[in-house]
Amino acid sequence: VFSHVVRAPEDPILGVTVAYNKDPSPVKLNLGVGAYRTEEGKPLVLNVVRKAEQMLVNDRSRVKEYLPIVGLAEFNKLSAKLIFGADSPAIRENRVTTVQCLSGTGSLRVGAEFLARHYHQRSIYIPQPTWGNHPKIFTLSGLSVKTYRYYDPATRGLNFQGLLEDLGSAPSGSIVLLHACAHNPTGVDPTLEQWEQIRQLMRSKALLPFFDSAYQGFASGSLDADAMSVRMFVADGGECFVAQSYAKNMGLYGERVGALSVVCKTADVASKVESQLKLVIRPMFSNPPIHGASIVATILKDRNMYNEWTIELKAMADRIISMRQKLFDALRARGTPGDWSHIIKQIGMFTFTGLNSEQVAFMTREYHIYMTSDGRISMAGLSSKTVPHLADAIHAAVTG
Ligand code: PMP
Repeated sequence: VFSHVVRAPEDPILGVTVAYNKDPSPVKLNLGVGAYRTEEGKPLVLNVVRKAEQMLVNDRSRVKEYLPIVGLAEFNKLSAKLIFGADSPAIRENRVTTVQCLSGTGSLRVGAEFLARHYHQRSIYIPQPTWGNHPKIFTLSGLSVKTYRYYDPATRGLNFQGLLEDLGSAPSGSIVLLHACAHNPTGVDPTLEQWEQIRQLMRSKALLPFFDSAYQGFASGSLDADAMSVRMFVADGGECFVAQSYAKNMGLYGERVGALSVVCKTADVASKVESQLKLVIRPMFSNPPIHGASIVATILKDRNMYNEWTIELKAMADRIISMRQKLFDALRARGTPGDWSHIIKQIGMFTFTGLNSEQVAFMTREYHIYMTSDGRISMAGLSSKTVPHLADAIHAAVTG
């Protein structure tokens, strides 16, 4: 009965790894996936995560019972504090509801399903370009996906004028997806002054902000600095949705740990929203997994472990920043034509190189370097040893 089923294409991002795994070349390099690698090219489990896991294992009083539908209460509280700030009036006034979800993806999905059921506007504006999963998540949730201009290929920077024009002409009440920091795939973020203008425009038109925070601490190395955009919107007392992921900043990719927070105008509304979020979650995955959330809560609630985490987080961010400089220097040393300063200007895990799909295909074929066809490379997948190989490939692709 299933013989009519046609084979679906590989996911464009995860498919890069499938192709990489099949390549027998010893010099192959996977810059497709957004997961951190050490200087030795290995996945990293943070020491503080290992320590937290050890504590959890040693605690014989811990059981494997189901969590409540909204997840681990302590985790939710600490997650809200992490993104909104310890002294956030919205938290103090109980205007925030936070529910534990399946990492960033699941948090976006639960938030979007809630909006499709309970919000008067169906349109969600997403940046052009954005993470490839965004349009799929929102469409399948029942929202109508539109785009706003974001990236300017000519400057390899922000198309701020285009962004203001497109949000300015969006129907009142529309939802707007914003990357809290380290925009994926472009690595281009608004400045704080630009964020302030975006905020004023959005509030004046009653546009609803939905922040995707997948890289807090990963962009600058500072958890507070990377949350500034979100905090600006919360400080004005208006509503706001935030999807948080601990995949990158705690290296908990496979644990699927994240949270959705909805900032409301009153505590009463927040508690009603939470009651409806439970109705979204219950038939979707019933309740979230316990292990990852327990790791996060163990780290966030203990001052020493929290400090240890920030040091390890900063080390990851700094290694990525140093890879940017090394790649930039290597291209300069080769005299590769073009202005490559965007490599050091862009923020976060990725560089949007500006290489086109033919150049990407050439680099994969001739140099065994794997990346998405839009020319996005994960700086976290690079090391001092592999930078020269990548620079050679880019040089050949550009001059060939
Ligand atoms: N949003 C953005 C912008 C991302 O880059 C990612 C991860 N690639 C996610 C959300 C969600 O990731 P996860 O579900 O693993 O937390």
